[in-house]
Order: sequence, then structure tokens, then C-alpha cells
Amino acid sequence: MRSIWMQRLTKFYQKYTYSMRGRYGRADHINKALLIVWAVMMIFDRFLPFYIGNILALAAFALVLYRFCSKKIYPRSNENQRFIQWIAQVKNFFKGKQGTYRYFKCPECKQKMRAPKGRGKIRVTCKNCHTQFVKKV
Ligand SMILES: [Zn+2]
Repeated sequence: MRSIWMQRLTKFYQKYTYSMRGRYGRADHINKALLIVWAVMMIFDRFLPFYIGNILALAAFALVLYRFCSKKIYPRSNENQRFIQWIAQVKNFFKGKQGTYRYFKCPECKQKMRAPKGRGKIRVTCKNCHTQFVKKV
């Protein structure tokens, strides 16, 4: 019994590897993101009107299947590279928002200065006239 199942399994595996030969067949970043979209849409499907959840879930799953079975390996991996870069840009955009500076002038000599936002009250020493003052940033 056991050997038959093993045989069937190895045969199935051979068929699978044969049919996947020359295909993309990777769970790359895009496919993972699409699978997350699919899972989220399956969960929130009932809260969305007009079958939007269903349609998006189906579209995401179809895209994963298409990309997984695609024979154009290089375009697929290029897509993935661009996707990774795009995600990095989005991350940088949000980081940049947090890391912006507050600009102000020295009360004595009107020298322009800047300090990173969100630190609360800080003691500033003017580089120009060495006046010390407290500023909320
Ligand atoms: Zn000054």
C-alpha cells in the first residue's frame, strides 16, 4: 500500500516539475503581496458592497496563478524588482514625513536654524551669537 502511494506521489511530483519547467514558479514579493490581498479580501468580502471583495480576491488569485505559471521569467523578476523598489520608496516617503525639520530664527541675531521635529522642548545655542534659548519642536 505504502509503496503505491509513494510511487503515485513521485509520479505526481515528476509531472509537476515537468509542467513547471521553464516557468516562473516563484512565491516572490508580488505574489506574496497578492496572496495577502486575496486573504484580506476573503475576510472582508462580506463587509464590502457589490462583490468588490470577491472580485478583488479572484483577480489577485488569478494574477498569482498567471505569474506563477508564466514562462517569461525575466519580465516577471523585473516586475518583482520594480515592486521592491516601489515599496522602498513608499517606506522612505513615510519616514521622510517623520524626519522633517522645524525651521526657526534666533531671537537675537535672526540667524536661520533648524531642528528635527517631534523632540519636544529643546535648548538651542545659536551658532552665530551663542545665545541660548528654549524652543518647542
Ligand atoms: Zn543668534
